[in-house]
Amino acid sequence: MKALDELTFDNRFARLGDAFSTHVLPEPLDEPRLVVASAAAMALLDLDPAVAETPVFAELFGGHKLWAEAEPRAMVYSGHQFGGYSPQLGDGRGLLLGEVYNQAGEHWDLHLKGAGMTPYSRMGDGRAVLRSSIREFLASEALHALGIPSSRALCVIGSSTPVWREKQERGAMVLRLAPSHIRFGHFEYFYYTKQPEQQAELAEHVLNLHFPECREQPEPYLAMFREVVERNAEMIAKWQAYGFCHGVMNTDNMSILGITFDFGPFAFLDDFDAHFICNHSDHEGRYSFSNQVPIGQWNLSALAQALTPFISVDALKEALGLYLPLYQAHYLDLMRRRLGLTTAEDDDQQLVERLLKLMQNSGVDYTLFFRRLGDESAALAVTRLRDDFVDLAGFDAWADLYKARVARDGDDSETQRRERMHAVNPLYILRNYLAQNAIAAAESGDYSEVRRLHEVLTKPFEEQAGMEQYAQRPPDWGKHLEISCSS
Ligand code: AMP
Ligand code: MG
Repeated sequence: MKALDELTFDNRFARLGDAFSTHVLPEPLDEPRLVVASAAAMALLDLDPAVAETPVFAELFGGHKLWAEAEPRAMVYSGHQFGGYSPQLGDGRGLLLGEVYNQAGEHWDLHLKGAGMTPYSRMGDGRAVLRSSIREFLASEALHALGIPSSRALCVIGSSTPVWREKQERGAMVLRLAPSHIRFGHFEYFYYTKQPEQQAELAEHVLNLHFPECREQPEPYLAMFREVVERNAEMIAKWQAYGFCHGVMNTDNMSILGITFDFGPFAFLDDFDAHFICNHSDHEGRYSFSNQVPIGQWNLSALAQALTPFISVDALKEALGLYLPLYQAHYLDLMRRRLGLTTAEDDDQQLVERLLKLMQNSGVDYTLFFRRLGDESAALAVTRLRDDFVDLAGFDAWADLYKARVARDGDDSETQRRERMHAVNPLYILRNYLAQNAIAAAESGDYSEVRRLHEVLTKPFEEQAGMEQYAQRPPDWGKHLEISCSS
């Protein structure tokens, strides 16, 4: 275990120089205080969780202090936002403080979000509010616990600094961890600004640091792009299987590592709804729940365009062609497991689709349905779950298919079935209304609810004593929350 001043830095991205990022110092928050910290994320830096409670922790991650070896930089990138190209974005309110490596030899970017203005702030104030910082923190750690690749969050620091959004709020910072903060938009920036040397340098950097195994391939850049395609297919399959809606899948929010990145108006589905749009400024539903799958491919195509100086168009197209079949394979594999199946049959896709259609028509809670399906034998479970459906004949027909399918899958005891299913079907997810309750308490200075919710979500598959209130369907007010997109 390390003390805070014992972190070891190796700032590889900063060393790429001024074409890639600009030196900017964090602008401190007034009266910084710890809102919540993740012991699991601290462990990634070998930090003793007790240091989170020390005043210097809030000072460091509230922008008052820096390690001597930190080199805070704002990165430049661009990207396609809602389908249109924005030529210059960049870190408008976040800073890469440096790269820390741990005892296991892993490098972690320390990125301080809400750290003040940078050359890329455009019309923004460089700040993040408490509400959105808490949401990013909870989502990062909750997704990770569900097994969905994601950036991580070390802590949220609150403050008394006023920040104006629709109303006056308080500024906060979230310390984000990821092996890299390089986005699709980084490649797009150097491609569209016609800086081939810098683009080659960026590609070499990413290849060497993050895809070293691709070096061994005859065409390393192509191998790297294929790997990006594969990782995105897998990540989005997991989003769809667990009902996660990202909300702002612009290419500047897509990580080159295939991890969930840049949390905004995201939501987990409560009732299953394929057409759900969590981002209220997304009027056309470009980033609706079911559109995430084709948008994943669209984003990869945008990246492919930026990689045309390195890889032939034919090879890029071929690699892009891997996306959909890989997505489908991962998705179906997970959905089979969510249904308790251990074998594969040709009609499984249809079994899943029929179920989802029934859930859609009856407004069935997506998370609790699967959890309860695993509580007991297939026959007993479907009898109990039947009440949640309006189309009873439709559900009965599905239930018959399901019971027959389970019978063909093989004999196992109710206990085995429960264990297997509960290990993939969470009881607790980050419902918008739960986040909202925690935020309301935090905004009035009580951080206990954020901390409790975070704790519950770190073990989403394990039933936790006394935590029943986190495993309920949302109350009516909680189902139709409008989550502000300003953050
Ligand atoms: P986002 O929608 O959060 O992914 O942000 C899109 C772009 O706007 C990025 O370049 C951000 O850095 C920038 N941005 C968002 N909010 C602010 C803010 N309050 N101040 C400065 N830049 C911001
Ligand atoms: Mg962003």
